[in-house]
Amino acid sequence: MVTSSFQYFAPTSVAEAAELLEQHGDDAKLLAGGHSLIPLMKLRLSEPQVVIDLGKIGDMAYIREEDGGLAIGAMTTYAQLESSDLVAARASVLAEAAATVADPQVRNMGTIGGSLSHADPAGDLPAVAIALNARLITSSTGDHRTLSVDDFFVDLLTTALAPNEILNEIAIPALPARSGSGYAKFANKASHYAIVGVAAVVGLDANGVCEHASIGVTGAGPVASRASEAEEALRGSRLDDATVSAAAAQAGAGIDFLEDIHASAEYRAHLTSVFAARAIRQAASRAG
Ligand SMILES: Cc1cc2nc3c(=O)[nH]c(=O)nc-3n(C[C@H](O)[C@H](O)[C@H](O)COP(=O)(O)OP(=O)(O)OC[C@H]3O[C@@H](n4cnc5c(N)ncnc54)[C@H](O)[C@@H]3O)c2cc1C
Repeated sequence: MVTSSFQYFAPTSVAEAAELLEQHGDDAKLLAGGHSLIPLMKLRLSEPQVVIDLGKIGDMAYIREEDGGLAIGAMTTYAQLESSDLVAARASVLAEAAATVADPQVRNMGTIGGSLSHADPAGDLPAVAIALNARLITSSTGDHRTLSVDDFFVDLLTTALAPNEILNEIAIPALPARSGSGYAKFANKASHYAIVGVAAVVGLDANGVCEHASIGVTGAGPVASRASEAEEALRGSRLDDATVSAAAAQAGAGIDFLEDIHASAEYRAHLTSVFAARAIRQAASRAG
C-alpha cells in the first residue's frame, strides 16, 4: 500500500519547521517517528499534501534534569526513555510504560511527542503524562505556549495543539518526596496497545498516610483522562487493601467507555478498576 503523493520537507530547526507549518496550514502534517502517521497515510485516512519531517532537527531529542524534574525533547524515542538512567531516577513510571509499547522496532522510532500529539485512545504515554502532571511546551512562529496536561487531551485523536503548533518539550515536575509510581495495563496481545492502562503516582507522609495521588487512565474511553475521584479517595488515608479497592472502583468515574472488537464497555469498566488497583498498589509499595 502506498500513500498519496506529497511534498516532503526536512527542516533543520524548530523555527524553520514552524515557518513551514504556518505556510502550509491544514495541508501539512508533521512527521516524527511515523508509526501512527505513515499507516494512516497508507490507508488514505490521512492525505497531507505536505509532510514536514522533524527527524533532521538536531535538538529535539534530549532528556535533561530541570528543577529536580525532567525536560524531555518531543523527538525522544521510547527506547531512549526506557534506557535513560535519568528517567529511571526521576520518573521511573515513564521508563516502565515506554518499555511496554509494542516491540523494539516501534520503540526505536516512536517518540513521546508523537504519542502525546496523536492522542490515540489506546496509547500508553498519555496516561503517564497525566499521572506525572506533565506540562507541554509548544512552538509556533515567534511564539511559545505551556499547556497543562489536564488541558491537552481534548477528544479522540484530538489535542489542544493549534494547527500551527509544534509540541517541542515535555516538562515533568519533580515528584513529591516519599513518592512511588506504577503502570499497569491490559494489553492487546497483537499490538500491545492498551485496552486499559493506568498510571499512578502516590506520595506518603512519614506515617504512611497518602499526601499526594495522581492517576491517569488510557484505553478505557475516547481520550486519556485523570481519575480525580480515585485520587481524592486516596488522599489523607492509609493505603490499605480496602482503601485502594474503594478508590480503584472510582477510577472509571466520568469515562464514556469505548466498545469495540477488543472489549465491551462493561469489560473496560471492570478492567479500569482492576488495573487501577494494581497500579496504585505498585506505586504505594514503592513509596515512602
Ligand atoms: C505495530 C504498532 C504497535 C504499536 N503499539 C503501541 C503500543 O503498544 N502502545 C502505544 O502507546 N503506541 C503503540 N503504537 C503507536 C506508536 O507508539 C506511535 O509511534 C505513536 O503513537 C506516535 O508516535 P510517532 O513518533 O511515531 O508519531 P508520528 O506517527 O510521526 O505522528 C503521529 C501524529 O502526531 C503528530 N506529531 C508528531 N510529532 C509531533 C510534534 N512534535 N508536535 C506536534 N504534532 C506532532 C503528527 O503530525 C501525526 O499527526 C504502535 C504502533 C505500531 C505501528
